[in-house]
Order: sequence, then C-alpha cells, then structure tokens
Amino acid sequence: MVNTTQSQTAEEITLSAAVFEQLRERNRHFDTVLRAIPDLIIGVDVGGHITFLSQAAAAYVRSSEKDSAVSPGETTLGSLTRFDPVFGEIAARLLSLADGAQIDPFELRSEVTKRDFLVTISATDEAYVVVMRDISSLRDLSRFKDEIMKLASHDLRSPLALIIGYASLIALDLPAESPQQDYVNSILQATERMTGLLDAVMTVEQLRSSPLELNSEANFPEVVHEALNNLHGLAEQKSQTLDTGLALDDMPPITINRMMIREVIENLLGNAVKYSGAGSTIWLKAWYDAEKVYVTVRDQGFGIAAEQIPRIFEAFYRGKQPGGQKSDGRGLGLWLVKTIVQRHKGDIWVESEVGKGSLFGFWLPLR
Ligand code: ADP
Repeated sequence: MVNTTQSQTAEEITLSAAVFEQLRERNRHFDTVLRAIPDLIIGVDVGGHITFLSQAAAAYVRSSEKDSAVSPGETTLGSLTRFDPVFGEIAARLLSLADGAQIDPFELRSEVTKRDFLVTISATDEAYVVVMRDISSLRDLSRFKDEIMKLASHDLRSPLALIIGYASLIALDLPAESPQQDYVNSILQATERMTGLLDAVMTVEQLRSSPLELNSEANFPEVVHEALNNLHGLAEQKSQTLDTGLALDDMPPITINRMMIREVIENLLGNAVKYSGAGSTIWLKAWYDAEKVYVTVRDQGFGIAAEQIPRIFEAFYRGKQPGGQKSDGRGLGLWLVKTIVQRHKGDIWVESEVGKGSLFGFWLPLR
C-alpha cells in the first residue's frame, strides 16, 4: 500500500520542480530581453545601492571605468560619479525625490563619453529603476539643424538682401518695356521667393523651439472681430460674403496668446477665401460652453480630397487644386494653426467634400 503522506510529498516535489523550472525559464527569457535592450537600465534600492545593472549599463560603466568593477549590492549609484558625473546627477535627483513622487524624463550629457541620454526614473515601494536612453544621434542631428538655421538666418539672408537691393537699383535705370527689365524682374521675384521661404523656415523653427507665451487674459470676441476686420478686404476682392454667427455674449476672459489665436482665425478665413470661388459665402461661427470655446469656418469652395486630408496639417504640404496645379502658398498656414491650437491645449478638426466645400473648426479650453 502506498503511503499517502509520502505520495503527497512526491507530488509536491514534482510541482516545486516544475515551478522552479518555469521560473528559471522565465528568468532566462527576461535576461535575453534585457540583454537585447540597448538602454542602460540600473536598479537602485532605497539606500541608493545598485541592485541590478543591465548588460548595456555594465558595459558603459566598464568603458568609462579605470579601476575596479562594479558589484551590485555594494556600490551606490552616487559612487559611480568617479566614472562619469552623470551618475552623480541622477543620484542627486533620486535623493531629492519625495515618497511616491514621479520625476519627469530629463536629458543629461556626459562630458566623459560625449553621449546624450534621456533619463527616466520609475519608483516602486522599495526600489527605483533608472533607464538611460542614448539619444546622441538625435541630439547631434538637432545641433546640426541649429547650425543650418543660424546659417539660413544670417549668412543666406544678407547676400539675398544685397541682390534684391542692387537688382532694384538696376531696374530703376532700365527702360520699362525692355527685355533687360524683364530679366531683372525675374531675378527680383526669385530672390524674394527665397527670402520668403527663409522667413517661413525660421517661423517654423521659432514656434517649434520657443515656449509659447500664454500671457494675456483676452477678450475672445474682440480677437474674433479683429481677425474678421483684417480679412474683410480680401473677401471683398473676390466679392465673397463673410457671414458670422457669434454666440459669445458674457464669455469669461480666456488666457491665450492673443496675437497667435488671431493668426489662427485669420489663416482659416484666408484659406476659405483663397480656396473658394468668387461670389461664394464664408461662415464664421463661434460659441462656448462651460469648458471650451469653439470656432468654425465653413466655405463653399473646392473642398479637399479624402486622401489629402491627413497631410494638410503637415509643414510645407500644399494640396492640389481642381486644375491639378499646386496652391501658390507655402503650405505652412494649417501647420501653424494646428501647432498654435495644440500648444493652447486645444484641438482642430476638418470636414470636407470635393466640389462642396470645407469646414475647419477648433476649440480651446476655457480654463
Ligand atoms: P497653403 O494655403 O499655403 O498651401 P495651408 O497649410 O494653409 O498652406 O494649407 C495646406 C493645403 O490644404 C492647401 O495647399 C490646400 O490644398 C488645402 N486647404 C487648406 N484650406 C483649404 C480650404 N478651406 N479649402 C480647400 N483646401 C484647403
């Protein structure tokens, strides 16, 4: 007869062995995954001691270390400063971290290895996990772009201004209806186009890299009226009617960058005028509820083909017109509109049908 206690123990042993094997398999799997990740991953306990170093992290420390190896459990993150001061900075941030607080990802540059890192710290009850992502190539690209921008804004603009200046002087001395006058005019138009393009590139860069100043408590209806007044002339030139439906009475003041929001409305109205035929009507509506203020601009214009819609908010994208030719703009208006609206924590939408017209709308949060 089989002894029950003994058979249970045997079963338990088999079960433990299976669980153990499963755990070992999972560990191996986890190890392979960690080895495949190029990020530097460092586990740190509440006392600041290193509990874990991913292979990439160990290799990094080894590459900058001159003496002893790092042994998890004994070494503190702060002491790795002797290899590379970036670790000291991360340790200092960990120390300043209050219970349960989160640190937003931040960037650090190592002057020892000349590498740039995006550092993320996740905290659990008893440990921290530091992930350092190497973003050197991104940063190098960004530095390269800054150099090009500097070049564009100064070194290209000055010779262009010189060409425009002298070409204008030559044009003054030439007979009005001569081939030479036409040549010089072509030079002037081409250089002015180039200057315009440089200005556009600089605008994109400025809006992308500078903080947006949400500086004024604005009277929103006033901003809408300013935009309408500024665009009236343009609509009149095409005998278009600007119709308004404003339900903004008693609207509370809103904190926005007034100039930029006016530019958003002007851009949408300007496009409605540009991409609609003569004699058509354009409707501007605005209203608000407890949380948001909404503005829509609707036209009876050419409309936008469905396949173009996902691209129209990209910088420098210009759609095709009904005749197949490209628009004569720079393709920046809607990019500016979207960027400005999103930086105000609002959003923009579009509905359009070819041959019927388009509706562009955006909302901004009231608080
Ligand atoms: P631009 O007008 O300088 O080309 P935008 O960024 O303002 O640049 O617009 C991008 C493209 O979206 C335009 O080239 C045009 O094809 C399309 N578009 C914008 N607004 C309208 C509109 N109201 N009706 C039809 N097409 C429009």
